[in-house]
Amino acid sequence: MRPRDLSDHVEYRAGRGIEEVARELGRDPEEFVKLASNENMFGPSPAAVETIEASASEVHHYPTADQQDLTAALAEAWDVASEQVWLANGGDGALDYLSRAALEPGDAVLVPDPGFAYYGMSARFHHGEVREYDVSPGDDGGFALTAERVLDAYDGERIVYLTSPHNPSGGRFTLDAIEAIADGTREETLVVVDEAYGEFTEAPSALELLRDRADVDGSHPAASHAPRDDVAVLRTFSKAYGLAGLRLGYALVPEAWGDAYARVNTPFATSFIACRAGLAALDDVAHVEQTVETARWSREYMAEHLNAPTYESHANFLLVEVGDASAVAEAMQERGVIVRDCSSFGLPGCVRITCGTEAETERAVRELNEVLAE
Ligand SMILES: *Cc1c(COP(=O)(O)O)cnc(C)c1O
Repeated sequence: MRPRDLSDHVEYRAGRGIEEVARELGRDPEEFVKLASNENMFGPSPAAVETIEASASEVHHYPTADQQDLTAALAEAWDVASEQVWLANGGDGALDYLSRAALEPGDAVLVPDPGFAYYGMSARFHHGEVREYDVSPGDDGGFALTAERVLDAYDGERIVYLTSPHNPSGGRFTLDAIEAIADGTREETLVVVDEAYGEFTEAPSALELLRDRADVDGSHPAASHAPRDDVAVLRTFSKAYGLAGLRLGYALVPEAWGDAYARVNTPFATSFIACRAGLAALDDVAHVEQTVETARWSREYMAEHLNAPTYESHANFLLVEVGDASAVAEAMQERGVIVRDCSSFGLPGCVRITCGTEAETERAVRELNEVLAE
């Protein structure tokens, strides 16, 4: 016997690692810097590292209490009920839980193009169909993360995915646009707002839409909104918290969805060590702040000093127009700087560069400018 028909399924293509590249080129890994996967330039929070080391001797226990502790801490941080926090094995795991909870076989989902590959993958795993909305640059030159683009393409899909800040462009949806999309789609459509890079923007989280809002920003004193039951927010510890290797993420779901989690989650969705480290990382505010500040500096520095057009970014990376992305990414790799060729996103003219430390950022700019001048 064989697996079911997987011909519609696609492989996830991750950014390449230093070890992998160094081995292939027969060079010392020390010569390379990886700015291809939007990882944290400072590594994990030192407090998380300490906790991980201290937790090693306890891994024979199932992570029951620890999962509760982390859920409670996140619920408090976001001011929601514990049932609204769906812990998962990375943000990707949380996407799977939302698919499991929402999709019937044959349901369709609507995903951004270009966009994050896992939305479609997850939907297909759950016997869903995938349709796309186009966010490629409009007349103003920026990626079109607008309610219009989404609603023009919308045709009753069960889940609509919005990435804000968006990967790979770095652009974002306004909260008003997200609300307009939730309003413009039918009652049975879930709008998933992927805020994997949420820490790097000053814009408010779409979680606001799940609250009772008398008046969020003071601009509509007369307006009052009930909490929505058709928006979910995705967050992760992989980016700003520097725990990508641990696999820890979560969804924040409407109150009415609370009891679905127990029916869809894989028992012990997150590891004992991940839960402990997540708690420590949450408390290490200084680490996140330094990360966010450095990313802001880095993306501005790159935008200013690169001799190539770039797109405004609200995340920890910058999308750069380089002409032939695969040739440029390869030349950069030869020079020891691994960047992301965006051909697999359908952007063969662009590379995406993760915000590094000051030294890494300056090196990336210097090398890319030289490659472009050749
Ligand atoms: C990184 C990323 C995620 C989540 O990654 P995990 O490591 O699984 O938490 C989700 N969405 C986007 C757009 C991302 O770039």
